[in-house]
Amino acid sequence: MARPRNCRRVGSMPGSNYFKPRGVPLSTLEEVVLSVDEFEAIRLADLEGLYQEQAAERMKISRQTFGRIIESAHSKVAEALVTGKALKIEGGEVEMASMRRFRCEGCKHSWEIPYGSGRPGSCPACESGNVRTAQEDGGSAEGLCKRRSGCCNRRGKK
Ligand SMILES: [Zn+2]
Repeated sequence: MARPRNCRRVGSMPGSNYFKPRGVPLSTLEEVVLSVDEFEAIRLADLEGLYQEQAAERMKISRQTFGRIIESAHSKVAEALVTGKALKIEGGEVEMASMRRFRCEGCKHSWEIPYGSGRPGSCPACESGNVRTAQEDGGSAEGLCKRRSGCCNRRGKK
């Protein structure tokens, strides 16, 4: 087991974590996976316009690490846009992300989303609205810190 490493601090979770080009069926769609720390790097550097030093400071990482993350993030976003792939945001070594698991009563699909991103209105697999909160089993949120306190510093939802 190669964890835990130091969690990277993330100030907000992506509101939506899946972006797909219109008109491409899911079955033929290729995905690019952007980690939450890469997403955060984009948010800080490109949206808030911070210098890399400041952004690195916010994420509690070195400037070199930040540089590597943002570079990877940019190339993934570019790849998704240019080649028409879906962009999925998940994983990464971040604090704050306890996950909530939901389960669809229609197709039995179950999935996890971070706390604070709201209750899903429908199942991402079959679009049924019959979605229930499932037991938290600490299952598949690979790379995401599960602790509710201490390391995980969840801020109030905007
Ligand atoms: Zn379903």
